[in-house]
Amino acid sequence: MEKTAKSKKRLSTAKELNNIVAQFYLEGNDAKEKGVPVGWMPPMNGAIEIFYAMGLQPVFPENWSPVCAAFGLTPNNFEIAENMGFSRDLCGYLRNITGYIYGDMNGEHVPLGGLPEPDIILSAGGGCIPAMKILHTLERRFPDANIFSADLPQVPVTEIQQYHIDYAVKEMHRLIDFLCQVTGKTMDYDRLAEVVRISDKACELWDKIMSYRKYVPTPFSAAEIGIMFVMVTRQGTRIAVDFLEKVLDEVKERAKNGIGVIEDEKIRLFWDNIPLWYNMGIFNYFEKMGGVVVAETYSAAWSMRLDVDDPIKALALKSLWSYPMVSCVSIEKRKEMVLKACKEFKIDGAIFHSNKSCVPITMGQSDIRRALEKELGIPSVVIDADHMDDRNFSIAQFQTRVDAFMEMLLDSSHP
Ligand code: SF4
Repeated sequence: MEKTAKSKKRLSTAKELNNIVAQFYLEGNDAKEKGVPVGWMPPMNGAIEIFYAMGLQPVFPENWSPVCAAFGLTPNNFEIAENMGFSRDLCGYLRNITGYIYGDMNGEHVPLGGLPEPDIILSAGGGCIPAMKILHTLERRFPDANIFSADLPQVPVTEIQQYHIDYAVKEMHRLIDFLCQVTGKTMDYDRLAEVVRISDKACELWDKIMSYRKYVPTPFSAAEIGIMFVMVTRQGTRIAVDFLEKVLDEVKERAKNGIGVIEDEKIRLFWDNIPLWYNMGIFNYFEKMGGVVVAETYSAAWSMRLDVDDPIKALALKSLWSYPMVSCVSIEKRKEMVLKACKEFKIDGAIFHSNKSCVPITMGQSDIRRALEKELGIPSVVIDADHMDDRNFSIAQFQTRVDAFMEMLLDSSHP
C-alpha cells in the first residue's frame, strides 16, 4: 500500500460525493463574486441553518482541512504555520488553516478555487481550545470581517439545564440580529422553520443509514465515511437530503441482499478518533484479512434530532450539544458511547487511533480500552498517527501492528 492512498469505495452513491464537495466550494467562490455575504464558522452548530435560511454563504475552515489533506496541500501549509511559530504538537486543523490563510490562499495550485475570503467570522465561544484558536487566527488575518463572538456555555450533555438552553436561545437571537445588521438582510422565520425541518430530515436519514451497518455483513465501511461532508456543510438544504436518500436506498438494498463490503466478512472492527484524512485508504487495509471497519466514534456526531416545532430552541440545543458530543465529552460518557456502539455493531476488535495532534479525543483511550476488554471482552490495538500530519504516521508500524492484531482476532474467532 502506498503511504498516501485513496480509499476504495463500494457505494456508487458515495462516488457522487466528489461532485457535491466541488459544488460546495465552487458555490462559495461564486457567492463571493455575486456579493453574497460569506461567513466562516466552526462546524456542528445551529449557525449553518440560520445562514441558509437568510441566504448567506457558510464556509467551514475546519472542514477545508481534510480537502487540503486529500489534495496534498498540507506540507506547505504546515511549513508556513511552523515558520510563524506554531508548534508541531498543535492540532493539525489549526496549523493547516493558519498556513493556508497566510499562504497563497487562492493561488493556481489551490484546488476548487480555494476559500472565498470572509465578510463575517463567527468566533466560537466553546469547543476545544484549538477550535477556538482557529477562529482567533482568522480574526487577525481578516481584520475587515465583521466578528460575532459567540458566548455559549460548555456544559456536558448530561448536565444541560433549562437556564443553559434559555441562554443559548438568546445567543441565537443575538446572532440573527447581528447578521441582519451587518448584511442588511432579514430573517424569514417561516423559511427558518423549513430549513430546520430539512436539517432534521438529514439527521433522520443519517441515523437510518448508520443503522444498516449493524447488518452482517455490513453494507458499507468507514472507507465511505466522507459522506458526512453533507452533514457538515449542507445541513438544512435539499442537497443533503436528496443525497442521503440515495445513499439510504443503496445501503438498504445491499443490506437486505446480504451484499457486504467484502465477500467474506470475518472480523468487525471499531475505529476510535478522527480518520487519517491524508490516507483514507488504510480503512481498506484490513479487508485482505477479512476485516471491515463497521463503526467509528465520529459518526455519532450527526445523530442529534431537532425539534421542528421550536426551530430556535432546536438550534440552540444543537449548538450546546455539538462539541460535547465529539471532543468536549467526559471520559465516562465516551466510554459509555464506545461500549454501546461496540455491542450494537457486534464488534470483534477495536482500533484506537492515538492522535498526536488531537488531545481532547485521544485523552482517556486507555480507560476506554480497559473497559472494552473487561466488560465486553473486546480486544483493541493502538495506532500512533495524526488526523492531518502524515509526518506523525508510519505505514510500516501501522501494518506490523494491524497484521499481528488481525492474526490474533482471526485465531480467537476460529479456535
Ligand atoms: S477536537 Fe481535536 S481535531 Fe477538533 S479542533 Fe479540537 S484538537 Fe483539533
